[in-house]
Amino acid sequence: MMLFAGLALFICLPAYLYIEYIYVPRFVGERGNAMHDLASGISAVIDENLRERQREIGLMAQEPLLRTAPLDSPEVAAALTRLQAAHPNFSWIGIADETGIVTAATHSLRVGEDVKDQPGFTGGLKGLFIRDLRWVNPSSAAVPPGATKQTTTYLDLSVPVATDGATIRGVLGAHIDLNWLTAVLDRVTPARAKDNQLGIIVSNGSDRFIYPDNEASILMPPQAKNANQLYIDSIWEDGRAYLSSTVPVQDASPGKSLGWHVVVRQPLTRTLENIATLKSVLLGASLTVIVIFFSLARWSATTVSRPLRQLARIAKKIQSGDERTPIDIPTATTDLRNLVDAFADMSSTLISSKQELASSNEQLERKVAERTAELLKANEGLQSLARRDVLTSLSNRMAADERLTLEFVRMKRSQISYCVMMIDIDSFKRINDTFGHADGDQVLQSVAQVINTSVRESDFVARFGGEEFLVVLPATSIAGALVVAERCRNAIASAQDAKVGQVTVSIGLAEATMSQRTANEAVDLADGLLYEAKRAGKNRTISARPTHVRW
Ligand code: GH3
Ligand code: MG
Ligand code: MG
Repeated sequence: MMLFAGLALFICLPAYLYIEYIYVPRFVGERGNAMHDLASGISAVIDENLRERQREIGLMAQEPLLRTAPLDSPEVAAALTRLQAAHPNFSWIGIADETGIVTAATHSLRVGEDVKDQPGFTGGLKGLFIRDLRWVNPSSAAVPPGATKQTTTYLDLSVPVATDGATIRGVLGAHIDLNWLTAVLDRVTPARAKDNQLGIIVSNGSDRFIYPDNEASILMPPQAKNANQLYIDSIWEDGRAYLSSTVPVQDASPGKSLGWHVVVRQPLTRTLENIATLKSVLLGASLTVIVIFFSLARWSATTVSRPLRQLARIAKKIQSGDERTPIDIPTATTDLRNLVDAFADMSSTLISSKQELASSNEQLERKVAERTAELLKANEGLQSLARRDVLTSLSNRMAADERLTLEFVRMKRSQISYCVMMIDIDSFKRINDTFGHADGDQVLQSVAQVINTSVRESDFVARFGGEEFLVVLPATSIAGALVVAERCRNAIASAQDAKVGQVTVSIGLAEATMSQRTANEAVDLADGLLYEAKRAGKNRTISARPTHVRW
């Protein structure tokens, strides 16, 4: 918007400044010069007319009748009437004798009056005399009845009347009233002066306005500061600004100049009317351009900038985690619509991928947890499977070794001894051979069962080899263990198998003591005693002590 406003200003301001500071002064100068030319022309015409009147009165005084006939004769009066008819610019023509008594005059006005002290007579005696325009009291004036301001304001002209011998015999006087000047100025006033409010003013030597004949509306023109100034642009007494030009009338009056001035003026508003119109057109055009630019700026702000700002705001919201922010941006242009759509598609794809990723991550974690639990369980199963004998469900050799080590360590710490019992089925090979392996297995299972039920819960039973069993009896003395051994042996021997019949076992029993260095020592001892029992005839228990029971 700033750019648009700046552009409008950039275009319109120079044009305005050019009009105001270059064109107006130039235009006013041209108009002022034209006014000066007009004032000079009018001045020249007035001057020419004054000269003409002076020539005319000079010629009248040369009239032979006036030079010869008695000045109070009817012929002279008739001659004056004739002269006035020939020169209508003169409102009155009269003649006075050398004593200053008016002897004849047109319309007999002022005849008999004594004028010897009046400037017109005294001046006229000396030569051509001219007296400035002045207003005269109608009652005393040499004017016909029905006098108006026009006719009672007049200019005096007088010349001496001499005899042929050049002796002054009287003075010829004449009046030129305002009607004459009005007629002259009406002729030279330009036709369109009124339309253009062009005022033409003529002032006399005493600065009285003598044209136009409407004194009330006329004011004194401001004086030019510089005498060489052809025109001035100033405020008049009526408070209005005028462009005016004042030119003195270069009259050829004898002696002192009449001091008349011609003023041409025009109200400055009228002079600059066309320029004011031009300025308002320019202002209108500038405002229109500014309004258009402003509208363009608003349009571009609404259609381009605002949607982009909204898009950026939404992108930030989505980035900060607010994924449900609706992407609802009104756009006016196709490009922006495409951009917003592409952004919406992209963000929805990203959001759904993110959600999918999170959910599959969750599934994966759940599966991993499940698998881990399964594995732990399977591991536990495997652990237990690895330590269990498949046929008898008793602990196997591996579990037995672990238990033996554990018990040995415990004994070392608690100093409480334990016993180890090795049980071997007697002549098992024969059972296998006689009844087959399946029945042999059956016997193994039965014997295992009997041993397991014959010992305490805290005791440990394992299948140690093919048809050998190991029993660990924690915190048990050799005597106590011997009781258990015998209970086992008796229970096996008394359990008659339906097919195989009686099955007996031999048992070697040893005590693990603090003096032993490994867990195996007691086992080896028991093993050795077991073989002793075999050698001694089987179906018996031999313990480490001499006390042994024979069944
Ligand atoms: P003794 O009284 O001296 O112990 O003689 P015996 O025949 O019991 O001992 P021997 O070591 O000669 O034979 C053991 C037999 O046990 C050999 C083997 O085939 C059998 N045997 C070992 N394990 C199994 C098994 O899991 N099932 C069956 N059915 N037989 C087995
Ligand atoms: Mg054996
Ligand atoms: Mg055996």
